[in-house]
Order: sequence, then structure tokens, then C-alpha cells
Amino acid sequence: MRAVDVIAKKRDGLALTRDEIDFFVQGFTRGEIPDYQVAAWAMAVYLRGMDEAETTALTLSMAHSGKVLDLSSVAPRVLDKHSSGGVGDKTTLVVAPLVASLGLPVGKMSGRGLGFSGGTLDKLEAIPGFRADLTTAEFLAQLKKHGIVVSGQSQELAPADGKLYALRDVTGTVACLPLIASSIMCKKIAAGAQIIVLDVKVGRGAFMKTEADATALAELMVKIGQDVGREVAAVISDMNQPLGNAVGNALEMIEAIETLKGNAPADFIEHCIEVSTQMLLLAGAAMDEHDARGKLHAALADGRALRKFGDWIQAQGGTRRVVEDYSLLPHASIVAEVAAPRDAFIAGIDAEQVGLTSVDLGGGRAKKSDLVDHAVGIVFQRKIGERVARGDPLLTLHANDRAKFDAATARLLAAYEFSETAPKLPPLIHRIIR
Ligand code: URA
Repeated sequence: MRAVDVIAKKRDGLALTRDEIDFFVQGFTRGEIPDYQVAAWAMAVYLRGMDEAETTALTLSMAHSGKVLDLSSVAPRVLDKHSSGGVGDKTTLVVAPLVASLGLPVGKMSGRGLGFSGGTLDKLEAIPGFRADLTTAEFLAQLKKHGIVVSGQSQELAPADGKLYALRDVTGTVACLPLIASSIMCKKIAAGAQIIVLDVKVGRGAFMKTEADATALAELMVKIGQDVGREVAAVISDMNQPLGNAVGNALEMIEAIETLKGNAPADFIEHCIEVSTQMLLLAGAAMDEHDARGKLHAALADGRALRKFGDWIQAQGGTRRVVEDYSLLPHASIVAEVAAPRDAFIAGIDAEQVGLTSVDLGGGRAKKSDLVDHAVGIVFQRKIGERVARGDPLLTLHANDRAKFDAATARLLAAYEFSETAPKLPPLIHRIIR
């Protein structure tokens, strides 16, 4: 078999066999198929798609490109959650310690920024000393000792995803249902959690722009997980405007810590509670939704969730003092407000443009080798539905370069829609799939 023939077959719109997919995935994992062929193949998949059998084969092949963990010796039921990618989506930073603080072990493999969407690992690495590159032994030991661990894919776990993810990020091949489904589910299968809640985003700042596409992605991922014996549910959640107020790695970290202290933007805490509720229900750790919500709010109110966050950060080498002292996080040199250009209601904030602005400021990568600037980003002061007067602050921009600051200001102002009348607010949660 030759890689070029597999690429050409997909280019011509034909379905690949399980053997062809396995040959290609194992080949690029071992470094025998070069990046340029992997990129060409990813573009062929992006343009031609994959059917359910191909996507399942791709997922399993990527999951088995490294070890598949059996967590039964650590805990009988480990929980996990994963987002399909959004803007301002810092949900894991709150949900993981919140759920773990109720005594439910959370073991998770996360990703870095992808296209316009931020990545949990980049946010965590804003904390000095935090290590996202744990070995398998470290992952298991931390899960056993602290009941919470979040790590990146590694040479040992889902290495195929590591390679493909980084290439997709810079080759315009991110927003593709089979590539997203396989990327997420291979990590979930390899990391070994039995209970998985998928947070599938829909809207302008999501890779799935319509509810039909988001539902198709969610249903396929739920099926792939259930076929390999995992309990899986999906929450279809709105991403038409940024989630919460902060976008950017260190800024989102601060917002997550503030949320654990009880100072959360309303949309963000409600979203975290909904995702956590589904985790508790799937784990049989609550009688019903009301019971789950009560337990979660109690863990936030009495400080258990915040303490678990500190334990987690410290266990992975991060400076725990960051919980009290945000000056330990990177800070941008230019911090300034952007004002409303007119009196009006805010009718829309194009979240994709916001995500791309954050990348352009340096918060994401344009090339595989780019370093992320953890300090830059945006903090929104007004969101959809609010009325502003000309000159009111819309947002605060954090930048480390004057030209980038000016370009970001123009791009963000263009991302707003204003109206004379109060707009309809987007729903936070569209559907739950179980
Ligand atoms: N998250 C992932 O892990 N992979 C994707 O492709 C999108 C979101």
C-alpha cells in the first residue's frame, strides 16, 4: 500500500477501508508518512468527508496509535468531559475540580488551541510551572492520589491525534465532522474514562455552525463511545457569542478562578452547572437534576471546588498561590478599553471573529512552531441584549504590540452587530443527547 494512493482515493470521494485507514494512521504516527502527505490527506477528508464506518475506524486507529488506559485499578468509574471547541470556553477549568470535589474522579486528556478556538492546555500553561505533558505513570498516579488530572496527548497516549491536531490547526482542516469526532473520541477512549460528557458547541464561534450539524456530530460521538462500552451523553450548547466574559489564556484562567470563588458571569456558571449535572447523572451520583444542582452549588459555596482546583494545579507542578495572586500570571503591556460607537442594543458578537482576534494578538498559533502569548486577550464588559450609550466601554483589550492592538480594535468593532430594538437572546443549551 502507498500513502499517495490512499490520499488519491479520498480525493476522488471514495470510502477508505479499515486497513487503508489503519495503514495511514499508523504510518504517520511512526513518522513514515511525512507531514505534507498527512496535510493533503486531511484536506481530502475535509472536502470529501467520511461515512460512519470510516470515522469509527479512524477513531479506533488513532486511539490505538498508543496505549489505551484501563483505569479500573485506579477507580471503577472515572469521569471525563470534552468540548468540541469554542471561544472563551474555559469550562474544564471549573467543571473538572467542581465534579472532582464531590469525590468523583476526573481524568482527562485535553487539547491546545485549534483554529479560532482556545485550548485548555494553553490556558493551564499560563500558570507558572504547570505541566501538561504527564507520562502515563504520572497521569495514573495523580488520578489515584488527587482524583483529578488533565494532561495533553503524548507519545504514549493517542500520538496520532497529537500529530494530526497540530497539522489541522495550520492547514484549514479543523471544521470537519469526521476529523473532530475522531480527534475527540480517540483521546477519550485512550484516556480510559468510563463516563464521558461531550460539550458540543453550535453557532458562529463553533466548528459546527448549525444545530443539525452539531447534532450529527454529537450523535456520532455518542455512538462511537457507546460501541466501545463507555457511557456517553452530549450537551449541545450555544457558541454564538463568547462564553463568559474573558477570551485569552491567562484572562480565562482568572475568570475560571473567580467562578470557583462565586464571582461568575451568569452564562458561564450556568453552562458549567449544566455540564457537571450531566456528569453526575450519568455517574449515578445524583437522584435527579435538582439533586445534582444542589450538590454542585454546595461544593462551590463551601470552597471545596476551589480547594480541589488548588490541589490539582499544585499536583501538576503549578504555583498554587495563583488562586490568591493573579499577578503571578502573565500580564499584557497594553491594556485599554474599546468604546461603543453609538447608542444601541448589542444584537450580536461574532464569536469566530473574536477567536481569530485572540489568535492574531498572539494567543493562538498561525504556524505549528509558534509560541503562545498567554497574556493577551479580550474581556467583554457588555454582551448580547445589553443596551449601550456611545462611549460606554464595550470591552477591554490586552495586547503586547501596538499594531496588533489597533488591528484587534478594528476587527472587534466590526464583529459587533447593533440594533435599535432589544434582540432575541440566544439559548444557552440547545439540546441534551443521552
Ligand atoms: N477538540 C478536539 O480534541 N479535537 C477537535 O478536532 C476539536 C475539538
